[in-house]
Amino acid sequence: MTTLTDANLEALLAVQALDTDLDRCRVRLASLPERGELAAIDLQLAALEQSRSAAAAERDAVADRQASFEHNLATVESRAAEIKKRLYGGTVSATRELQAMAAEVDSLTARASELESRALEAMDEREPLDARVDKIDGEKSSLLAARAAVGERLAAREAEVAAETDTLSTARAQAATQVPEDLAVAYNRLRQRLGGVGVARLVGSRCDGCHLSLAATEIDQLRRQPPGTLTFCEQCGRILVATHP
Ligand SMILES: [Zn+2]
Repeated sequence: MTTLTDANLEALLAVQALDTDLDRCRVRLASLPERGELAAIDLQLAALEQSRSAAAAERDAVADRQASFEHNLATVESRAAEIKKRLYGGTVSATRELQAMAAEVDSLTARASELESRALEAMDEREPLDARVDKIDGEKSSLLAARAAVGERLAAREAEVAAETDTLSTARAQAATQVPEDLAVAYNRLRQRLGGVGVARLVGSRCDGCHLSLAATEIDQLRRQPPGTLTFCEQCGRILVATHP
């Protein structure tokens, strides 16, 4: 290991502080509450979409029935009109035939009235179903608007965290120039193994990494090491930086 200076170790502590902040940024980015809000809205939208499909299918079935009554009504009416035209057109003079035609007109008129009331019934049945589909569409529009608003908020928060991450990364790169390569390697390995903290300061008699107190003899020994000696916490194994008197 290269001979270390206090400045190297102080720089490593600065790198550690910045790495901890960068870790916090990553956690914050992953757990932005807007992500949960979006997921909740998407669930609501999916449920709404299902209700809409069901309501629209019901409405369409009634609408089809109504259209079919109306189509049949038009056919019956045009057939009746055709016969009436011949009936009063003066081209047919046989009484028997005229009677038969009049009877058919009566029967078609009765059929038309029946079809008309069926079509009206279907129309009545359709009204609340149309209203239900419209209501669902309205709810969907509000949810989509809410979703867009949350999306914008999320993007703003992401940009905020990204800017902070940039600033921290620049500072980290700057501090890392004062950390010798092999010290950086040792630090990174410990950081990976020990939950993100690879180096700690000795504060009083306690390691600031594991917060455990060191034995007086060990502290004594640490303080008496020549400057630039790389030392580790006996309890947690982290690089331990003791300020030399
Ligand atoms: Zn420790």
